[in-house]
This record gives sequence, structure tokens and C-alpha cells, in this order.
Amino acid sequence: MDKVTGFVTGVNGNLVSASFSGSVRKNEVGYVLVGDERLKGEVIRINGDTASMQIYEMTNGIQVGDKVELSGQLMSVELGPGLLTQVFDGLQNPLPKLAEKCGFFLERGVYLDPIPDRDWEFTPRVAPGDVVTAGDAIGSVPEGLFTHLIMVPFDLTDEWTVKSVREKGVYNVRDTMAVLENEKGEQRELTMVFSWPVKQPIRCYEERLRPDETLVTQIRCIDTFLPVAKGGTFCVPGPFGAGKTVLQHMEAKNADVDIVIVAACGERAGEVVEVLTEFPELTDPRTGRSLMERTIIICNTSSMPVAAREASVYTAVTMAEYYRQMGLDVLLPPSRWAQAMREMSGRLEEIPGEEAFPAYLESVIASFYERAGKVRLKSGEIASVTIGGTVSPAGGNFEEPVTQATLKVVGAFHGLSRERSDARKYPAIHPIDSWSKYKGVVDMERVEHARSILKRSNEINQMMKVIGEEGTSAEDYIIYQKGELLDAVYLQQNSFDPIDAACDPERQVYEFDILYDVLTRDFDLEDKKEIRAFFNQVRQEFLDWHNTHFRSPEFEAQEKKLKDFYLSKVQG
Ligand code: ADP
Ligand code: MG
Repeated sequence: MDKVTGFVTGVNGNLVSASFSGSVRKNEVGYVLVGDERLKGEVIRINGDTASMQIYEMTNGIQVGDKVELSGQLMSVELGPGLLTQVFDGLQNPLPKLAEKCGFFLERGVYLDPIPDRDWEFTPRVAPGDVVTAGDAIGSVPEGLFTHLIMVPFDLTDEWTVKSVREKGVYNVRDTMAVLENEKGEQRELTMVFSWPVKQPIRCYEERLRPDETLVTQIRCIDTFLPVAKGGTFCVPGPFGAGKTVLQHMEAKNADVDIVIVAACGERAGEVVEVLTEFPELTDPRTGRSLMERTIIICNTSSMPVAAREASVYTAVTMAEYYRQMGLDVLLPPSRWAQAMREMSGRLEEIPGEEAFPAYLESVIASFYERAGKVRLKSGEIASVTIGGTVSPAGGNFEEPVTQATLKVVGAFHGLSRERSDARKYPAIHPIDSWSKYKGVVDMERVEHARSILKRSNEINQMMKVIGEEGTSAEDYIIYQKGELLDAVYLQQNSFDPIDAACDPERQVYEFDILYDVLTRDFDLEDKKEIRAFFNQVRQEFLDWHNTHFRSPEFEAQEKKLKDFYLSKVQG
């Protein structure tokens, strides 16, 4: 195929317009040739013979008349074994390698192979004569903790007959592993690697399922009160310093998923550096080794323009879908998707919607979150992609369009509260303002009742600020204390405590039972002084209980102490 070429007719920031003769597709990748640099971009709009391209590099030096080459390919990522443990930029350049090549970080216009050039031990799963189609496994290789399936590329959606397949052995990732032929007699040689357009969801599964299973994070206030679902979506808006990063780390470490794909697409360089330096330090509680063994990081470096941020979001979710296709559960922990997406707005000079956001912002956000999901694969296996998003609305204003558009589509909302983080109540997820449509680890009815006590307690607290403790009835004062207890011993959880940092669902159910018993009993308490002293003691016994390992002798002894104490004050 002849390459379609054209030339630059205008430059506006990262938006380059170019005139072409020949056919151009939306989302097609093209390069602007500047001296001996080739700057990558993507066609985002076509108007007659002029295409608007979003360039993923700094555009300085581009001049009207510079040559532009189209690739004929949609913006794609390479999929194959070896992605895990790597750090990529938004265009899937492996970062450490790039740093080696360029001395210090990125030079523009340098693109490296994301798939390491190495050998893998291949075991075939098909034989000559078998009929296969997109997404079917022709074999597998062990990739770290997982069995990585070598699949029929997702675009081969008709039926293909296996002509030949390699026997078990060690092969290079680019070797031909199988040859397929379709009814028309067309042949395709498969290696362990193929590419897939990032903006096209991978749909080689049997059926999409309702996200009805809790994605356990081991964070009590989430799993019990504000659950996330496997294959679901959630959003964590919050001001700086409210604990987003700590929460993201805890979710990445302890959530019940196989693979974590972190997209660091923050607008502050500090956030990206934070991910790059802190993530590799995290240990995987399951293996005791580095969490990076089951992690991929996508980040855009400070030398890349904002346009690349959007690319990193799609690159991340495409890799997530790829691993889901192997039967794995994948989590994209909260990062700033939506913020990245709004960047593309102004440059297109489209009719702005609210607050200069593009009118299609909502549909872009919705279709992105739709890529989350729990699916049944053709093999019968169930697998999922769960997407968390963060927004940091200016001035904590949740009414702004990005937050609002996100809230319309996600299944859970974990609003971080400045007030709670200032009071060092962590995780600072606001227990009343936040919500979830998913099922948690404790039965809904009791959780709702507990939440109503918390709400009432907050109201009484507000009232007491006005009328003082003296003006409050003993009855109300007890409800207030019950709410405070629930907050202190259940909602709050110290991420830095070796035991309390992670609370498995069995323990959550166990602790909730006892807490619920305290919340729903009537106690024989004379006056506010006695009420206060009683609840202080219950709280302390509970917190001491948190310092013991579940079901250890210490745990049982402390449980008895706690129960003996509060039961001694039960009325009647
Ligand atoms: P953000 O990313 O929202 O700016 P961070 O996640 O960096 O905020 O949190 C700021 C600080 O708050 C942390 O350094 C830590 O001291 C404290 N913190 C946040 N979450 C927790 C938690 N769950 N347990 C204990 N401390 C926390
Ligand atoms: Mg942070």
C-alpha cells in the first residue's frame, strides 16, 4: 500500500492541520517529519482534504509545508508477553529503556518496541486442523505469576483453520508460532505479539455480566459501606492531601485482582514522579515480593504534551482488556482519566459546552468507563476489568462538568472530605455523602441501619455545636456516641499499621456483627459522664482488638474482654 502523504498547513499548539491527497481515517496514526525527527500524532478530525492531527510530542519547530506521513494504522498498542512489570509512556514506549537510549529521559520522536525481545517457553493448545477465531488461545507461555495466553489476534473474527503450530519449546517472541488459513485461502502467520487499536474495545467474549460480585479491597469502609464491584467503576474525587495516593496504593496492593495497571496521567509532574518512585517500592502481600510483578505503569513524562495523557488512558485500558481476555481480573486504580480527557477539548476549537468543555465530554467519559466490565469468556471463565477514576475539581467543587459527567456513569462514589482528612480520619472517604450501587461483604439491611445511626449521630453532633452538650438528651447523646464509635473503630483504618491496613472480608463480617450488637442495644447508663466513659472504653477495647491477628488467641481474649465489658452494661 502506498503511503498517503501530505504537508502541514497550520500549527496551533499540539494541533497540526495538514492537507492530504488520498484517503485518511479518523484515529489514524501519522508522523510529521521535522528535520530527521518523526513526531507521532493521530488524526482526530477530517474536513475535506484537510486533517487535524493531535501531535503527541512538543510541536516546536514544525513549519507550514513540513511533510506529513500517514501510517494507514489506527492508534494501537502492541500486545504480547513481557508487558508486566514495565513502565511505559502514553505511546507505549518503555521508559527505562528510553532513558538509556536518550541519556536523560525522552527525546521527542523516539519510539521503542514495547515488547521485550526475548524467548519464552511456549506450550501449544491447538493442533493442525483445529478451527479457531479471534481471542482463542493457540498456546501459552508462563509470564511471572501468570499463564499468558497466546491468542488469535482479535481482528480475525471469522473462522480460521490451524495449518501448523509449533511444538512445545523455547521461541523468540517474534517467531512464527502458528499459521492459520481461512475459507478464502488467506493465510496468517501468528507470533506471540499483535497490535490492537486503543480506541476499540476488545469484545472477544461470550457475554457481558452484571458486576454483582464485591471487589474486596480489605478497606472496611469500602467493602462494607461503599463497595466496589468486580467489573464495576468508581470515582474518587478529592482535594489534594485528602489521601488519594494512599488509597490508590492500598487498593492496588490489597484488592482481590490479578493485575494492576496504573495510569499516571496527572497534570503535575510531581504526581507522575510519585507513582514512578513509590509504586515499585510496594510489596505484594500475596507473594511478599514486589507488587510490580503484577503491575504495569503507564505515565506520561513531563517532556510529553498534554495530548499524550489521553493516549495513556486508552493504552492502559486496552492492556487491561487484553489480560481480561486471558481470564484474569484487572484493576485500573483511581487515576485522573477524566481530567486527561478534557485536555483534547479546546484544541479542536469545537463549540464548547459548559465551562469550555466539549459538548461530547459526557459521551467520551461514558464510553471510556464502559470498557470496564465483568465478562464470561468463550472458555467459560469469568474475568473482569474494574476502573477507578479520580477527579480533583478546582476548589473541591463537585458541580463542575467533569465530576458530574463521571458521577453519572460510575457505580460507586468515594468522595474524600477535607474535613475528615484535616481531622486525620483516614481513609477520608465521606461516609454519608458517598454512595455505591454495588453489593458489599455485609448484608445491606444491617449496613443501612448502621448508616442511619451514623447520619443521626452527625445531625446530633451539629445540633450540639449550637446548643451544647447540656441541651442534648441522654438518648440523643447515646446515638451520637454510637455514631462516633462506628466511625472510630470501623470506618477509620490506618493504612500504615501492619495488621489494620488490610481487613479481610471474613474479619469485616465478624467485627461488624459485634459492632452492630453494640449499636443496636440499649445500655444502662446514668448520665452523660457515664455514657462518655462507657463509649470511650468500648472504643479502646475495639482498637486493641484491631491490633491482634484474626482468630489468634490474643484476638479471642480481646474479643471476650470487649464483650464482657459492654454486655455488663446492657439494660435489663
Ligand atoms: P493526596 O494524594 O490526596 O494528595 P495522600 O494520599 O498523599 O494525599 O495523603 C496525604 C497524607 O495523609 C499521607 O501522607 C498520610 O500521612 C495521610 N494518610 C492518607 N490516607 C491515610 C490512611 N488511610 N491511613 C493513614 N494515613 C493516611
Ligand atoms: Mg497524591
